[in-house]
Amino acid sequence: MTQTFRVDAIVVGGGGAGLYAALALARENIPTAVISKLYPTRSHTGAAQGGIGAALGNTEPDDPEWHMFDTVKGPDYLADQDAVEVLCNEAVDTVIELEHLGLPFNRTPDGKIDQRRFGGHTREHGKAPVKRACYSADRTGHMILQTLYQQCIKHDVKFFDETHVVDLLIEDKVCRGVVALNCATGEICVFHAKAVLFATGGSGRMFKITSNAHAMTGDGMAIALRRGVPLEDMEFFQFHPTGIYKMGILLTEACRGEGGVLRNKDGEPFMERYAPNIKDLAPRDIVSRCIYEEVRQGRGIGGKDYVHLDLTHLGAEVVEKKLPDITDFVRTYMGLDPVRDLIPIQPTAHYAMGGIPTNKNSEVVHDEKNTVLKGFYAAGECACVSVHGGNRLGTNSLVDILVFGRRAGVRMADYCRRSDFAPLPPEPESAARAGISRLASNSDGENAAALRRDLQSAMMDHCGVFRTEELLVKAQRSIQGFKERYRSVGVSDKSQVFNTDLLEALELGNLLDLAEVTVASALARKESRGAHYREDFPKRDDKNWLKHTLAFRTEKGVRLSSKPVALGRFQPQERKY
Ligand SMILES: Cc1cc2nc3c(=O)[nH]c(=O)nc-3n(C[C@H](O)[C@H](O)[C@H](O)COP(=O)(O)OP(=O)(O)OC[C@H]3O[C@@H](n4cnc5c(N)ncnc54)[C@H](O)[C@@H]3O)c2cc1C
Repeated sequence: MTQTFRVDAIVVGGGGAGLYAALALARENIPTAVISKLYPTRSHTGAAQGGIGAALGNTEPDDPEWHMFDTVKGPDYLADQDAVEVLCNEAVDTVIELEHLGLPFNRTPDGKIDQRRFGGHTREHGKAPVKRACYSADRTGHMILQTLYQQCIKHDVKFFDETHVVDLLIEDKVCRGVVALNCATGEICVFHAKAVLFATGGSGRMFKITSNAHAMTGDGMAIALRRGVPLEDMEFFQFHPTGIYKMGILLTEACRGEGGVLRNKDGEPFMERYAPNIKDLAPRDIVSRCIYEEVRQGRGIGGKDYVHLDLTHLGAEVVEKKLPDITDFVRTYMGLDPVRDLIPIQPTAHYAMGGIPTNKNSEVVHDEKNTVLKGFYAAGECACVSVHGGNRLGTNSLVDILVFGRRAGVRMADYCRRSDFAPLPPEPESAARAGISRLASNSDGENAAALRRDLQSAMMDHCGVFRTEELLVKAQRSIQGFKERYRSVGVSDKSQVFNTDLLEALELGNLLDLAEVTVASALARKESRGAHYREDFPKRDDKNWLKHTLAFRTEKGVRLSSKPVALGRFQPQERKY
């Protein structure tokens, strides 16, 4: 028996984007349910450390227009400027609203929200670093998630926790709901809705070294792709410069915002050579490449593939009070003390700039002409609106998830009031049930964990910070092989209750589909822009490539297309820091 629920608005994902959307819907009295494979407060938003960017100008002069400039330049001019304008203007009142909802920000001595520096954020169009990141020690995301979750409970949002969405119901270009697996019982449920939001987060688990939690398997993006929605700009995946060596656990950019520096084996603060103006606070794509450049030139520590992050000159007071969580990570995982010791770091796969294409009202658009797919919305890391273009600036994801999460909620409320429930297709759960039965019946098939490891290594080695045609073709061949192997992946656990074997096999299927479009998009883009660096095409090529990639899935494989970038007041220039 399949259980069917009927709710006006379904929000898939209980991270920052999903919860703010749900809160906005509930405030408009629209019956709303959040479906989340994790308990909401365990979402990856809770791991965000450093801060949320907003030009409040609390500690020194700042202006949303300067924020806009940085958000167009940092992403290497691929961001849509109409969406960037919304982001930077609404950042200010979003942060103030969060404060009023009870978020405990760090304060200045006179009681205002304190702000600190972050990579790529400058005053007066690149003159010098500016303090724009509002923060709550290095637990900003945790505080956002707790604040929004409390507000959702207060406004009677219904939660379906530990419920794993596996399919999206779209017919005749109208979205009608989702199909999900109840993790606790193994039952399949159908959710019939007027409007569905995907706020399912990122896909960093595609790579071997990553800052992303285990659940970041890009489910929403992959499900949308399989249902005919293209994915935008998937070749742009950000590597954050400072992951703990070999583990990938993130050490926030706030470490450098507070004055930390990167040093090579000679102790040289090498970023001074590459970005004389803003040094260690250059955007992440640049710093990650510089680290590898130092390693290639033989200046890695002990001849190995890592460098040091130095916080020792900041003093115990700053390190322990403003960066308490990362201090704890370094002590726990490395047995080092950041107050006294240099910390071994290497770039770690961190953030998907690409995703489900949306317009600035968080409505999903499904073709080159930005045609709206009725009833389907996306926000947060799974979406591509696009405010991060080729390279996201630090603190801009938390703003993105909140600004566009809230906008999604407001827009969905309006849509729900104006629309009826579109009828469900006959046997809406049949495709999901068939997929699950196939995995469950392959009991002597290959184990998903081994295949996932191979995928993660191939993506790290052949589709990472530096790319060439040769490497990408290798990645493409490997992925075809992995997809073959996936057909025989099986689930040995036959139980219905919290069958994590089955869930991981489903997630692996999503990672494989996303890896395939990522590599196809990277192979096609014959230029270097933001995080996509082609050693065989090292220059940015605005004449041919100032455009968004759209990747569709077809029976014959990936079909690539493109759409224009929404330009505006900031014309593309050379990106110097
Ligand atoms: C370690 C770390 C530190 C960071 N620090 C910062 C920072 O300081 N500033 C900043 O701006 N950004 C930061 N980021 C990035 C930022 O935190 C994320 O991009 C952002 O929080 C994503 O929010 P989200 O709401 O889109 O998704 P998430 O918070 O990842 O939530 C995704 C939700 O979707 C649900 N879900 C996923 N798949 C399914 C499915 N199949 N069925 C049902 N539910 C599903 C999950 O249960 C979860 O609730 C950081 C990221 C990391 C990894």
